[in-house]
Amino acid sequence: MTLAHQAKTRAAVLCAVILLASPALAAKPATQVRAEIPAEFRWDFSAIYPSWSAWEAGLADMEAKMDAFARLKGTLARGPAAVLKAYQGYDEIGKLQYLVFRYPQLQRDVDTRDQTVAGRFQRVDAAFARFDTATSWFTPELLKVPQATMEQWIAQTPALAPYRFTILDNYRQQKHVLDEAGERLMSLAGAFNRTPQATYQELSTSDIKFPSIRLADGKEVTLSPGNYGALLDTNPNQSDRAKAAAAHVGTYGATANTYAAIYNALAQRDWFLARARNFPTTLDAALEGNNIPRQVVETLVETTRAGTAPLQRYLRLKKKLLGLQEFHLYDSFVPVFRSDKTYPYEQAREAVLASVAPLGADYGAKYRRFVSGGRVDVYENEGKKSGAYNAGVYGVGPYLLLNHNDTLDSAFTLAHEGGHAMHTVLSYETQPFVTADYTIFVAEVASTTNERFLLEHLLKQTTDPKERFLLLQHSVQEIVGTFYTQVMFADFELQAHRRIEKGEPLTTEVLNQIYADLLKTYYGDAVTIDDFYKFTWSRIPHFFNTPYYVFQYATCFASSAQLFKAMTSGPEAERKAATERYLTLLRSGGNDHPMAQLRKAGVDLTQRATVQAVVDQMDALVTRMESEAARVR
Ligand SMILES: [Zn+2]
Repeated sequence: MTLAHQAKTRAAVLCAVILLASPALAAKPATQVRAEIPAEFRWDFSAIYPSWSAWEAGLADMEAKMDAFARLKGTLARGPAAVLKAYQGYDEIGKLQYLVFRYPQLQRDVDTRDQTVAGRFQRVDAAFARFDTATSWFTPELLKVPQATMEQWIAQTPALAPYRFTILDNYRQQKHVLDEAGERLMSLAGAFNRTPQATYQELSTSDIKFPSIRLADGKEVTLSPGNYGALLDTNPNQSDRAKAAAAHVGTYGATANTYAAIYNALAQRDWFLARARNFPTTLDAALEGNNIPRQVVETLVETTRAGTAPLQRYLRLKKKLLGLQEFHLYDSFVPVFRSDKTYPYEQAREAVLASVAPLGADYGAKYRRFVSGGRVDVYENEGKKSGAYNAGVYGVGPYLLLNHNDTLDSAFTLAHEGGHAMHTVLSYETQPFVTADYTIFVAEVASTTNERFLLEHLLKQTTDPKERFLLLQHSVQEIVGTFYTQVMFADFELQAHRRIEKGEPLTTEVLNQIYADLLKTYYGDAVTIDDFYKFTWSRIPHFFNTPYYVFQYATCFASSAQLFKAMTSGPEAERKAATERYLTLLRSGGNDHPMAQLRKAGVDLTQRATVQAVVDQMDALVTRMESEAARVR
């Protein structure tokens, strides 16, 4: 991976919360007109640039610095001063990349209809791509300096110390870096390699036609992913849910052969890239960047497959409480109890702030400052991107996008994204630019830990068994969505890629079979599996957009479960020490490989016990749900 490539990936990284069904129905805010929403609930972009002309100047400055950087070709062997000059030059470009990228990106996301902004954003993308190609020489040239010599240079040059981890990590990955001609060839293939993803995007969004069905109450509904998710979340009529699921998933099933051809192309691409860079498997290639041993994924899958009992027990409890004869996958999202309780933004914000009190006064004060205005874009408006994410701008701080709709889900989304934002705050203020960015592998630890804090806080606030049940259900549903489902997805990707590695065909039938077998393994006889669900793989965007990505949600969840337990149980001195280790993890940004960072915080993901902790937590939560349910009745 080239230096420039890292920058591009870094700037493009966004958090995406993924669930099988989409979030609950939006309670409509009073206005959808952005200008009518009070400024304190909208982003203030002036901390990045005061105006578009300042942005233009920044873009020009960045491109000039990129050109200057490209002229450093051939200088690295001259000595430590030359290496330092290159890395410092790259830092300057990287800091500008953040500003130049985020300014249009954030403005586009709050009004995606604005074509002028979209055009400006594309110019940034093009500049990044040019830089990527113009600097493909960098890593091969750096690696021509023997590692021992480089270590000596670093030792005798204090200014190189902050770059030590990054520089030496290139040597670790040396056996996978090709010569200059090879790297050039790989970079030329870059655009072509994105074809499967682009094709999937068109087929699954632009060209797809979602069917309409008539519900039991006579209403007709078009089954777009949003409507479909909302229907599964709220429709109390099982036959409506059944009809919707068959029609929605069936829409993908109708073109399953094309999806299979795309997935086959993607797996072939992954296998090409792995072999071109001398990896034994596609999984090894995917994990190399973060220096994660293959056993982490294998242990995760094995332990989870053996730990499906509490998942099935939860689904049986739900079946019983819903009074259903048969429990189908489309019944898993509908709530057992309904509640009129709402969580308006300001109330949710105070709860979230109060919930993290165990993390200390300093964390709390910084969190309050962050949410005090201009950095959280709270409400939905016309043209605004859906969902939620945290986006950092080095030197400026994080920006957080929400679509808060007063539901319990949106309160937890605030806790989740707020966890990311505070991770960014602590890392940016502690780390130099080169190591400020954390990997996804630790990112979701910060977010899920804060969700857990909110759960405990809200559970303490209420004595109403119904509300307690709903809170517990939210958390259990999160373990299902973030842990079990993601491990099942990882299992699927692993099996599919292994077929390609063995030279076996990856047809629609094969993919359907892998998926159907997984459903059987995970849900056992707790769920009646309808035949059409075998097509589910074709509607999971992560399979096509970011292969071997989703397992990280599960490993993060396991890490967070263990850290939360250490911070909140046992003698006070131990809790304090665990909290300090956790805050150190947040402050450490990307200054080491994620497995090493987590080990320092007390988590070892190569151990079965770490994964088993989630299974045990699920078991305990389901037991609590059972007793709260008994009190409601
Ligand atoms: Zn997240």
